[in-house]
Amino acid sequence: MSLSLEELERYARHIVLPEIGGPGQQALGRARVLVVGAGGLGAPVLLYLAAAGVGRLMLVDDDTVGLSNLQRQTIFVTADVGRPKAAAAAARLAALNPHVAVEPHVLRLDAEAAARLVPTADLVLDGSDNFPTRYLINAACVAAGKPLIAAAMSRWEGQIALWHPAAGGPCYACVFPEPPDPSLTPPCALAGVVGALPGVMGSMMAMEAIKYLTGAGRPLRSALLLYDALDAEVRRVRTRARPDCPVCHGAGRPG
Ligand SMILES: [Zn+2]
Repeated sequence: MSLSLEELERYARHIVLPEIGGPGQQALGRARVLVVGAGGLGAPVLLYLAAAGVGRLMLVDDDTVGLSNLQRQTIFVTADVGRPKAAAAAARLAALNPHVAVEPHVLRLDAEAAARLVPTADLVLDGSDNFPTRYLINAACVAAGKPLIAAAMSRWEGQIALWHPAAGGPCYACVFPEPPDPSLTPPCALAGVVGALPGVMGSMMAMEAIKYLTGAGRPLRSALLLYDALDAEVRRVRTRARPDCPVCHGAGRPG
């Protein structure tokens, strides 16, 4: 698959980078990426991956656009209020880059849908907003041996990691064996979230996705990146696989 003249110009700033170049851009064009959640994190993930020329974007979301989403979910415009997020996002992405095949799924990811969709992807990005979905995606990715880039955030803080025990290191459940007490982790609707925070964390997810798909740099594996916006601090914490992890059984040790 060679790049057309139009694509050479569209992706010129990637192609000139030694870490991506023509082969990296072609790898992006061949990639199938599953994005769960077209909300705050999903918005920059989807926009940057579509702009980057990822060949196929499958996006899953069962929600509709609400007025209070527009403070941070920059993929939507005011006229989208009331529309299904997956459909509105797909229309925006098609307008951004016609080379990308966008596959919207207006559904809530359950075990059946995860078992069906995850094995068809080269990479999965979790921008969901609840713990049951997070654990479900992790288990489906471990079962299918797929890499998972997941981020989470609240108020002024965010975290991101790449979980891929098949290539070494822990899975999400190794490091977070149990969901936290719901009273300690209220949803964004109750706790609040600064509009630019999902922009930062979602852009980091897109960055790790582009690195993974093109082979550029070092993947964020066996590490958790923590961002504290109030203090403008970023920390990197080492993570380890656990042999007693009920999901991956420490398959990726030592990382
Ligand atoms: Zn594990």
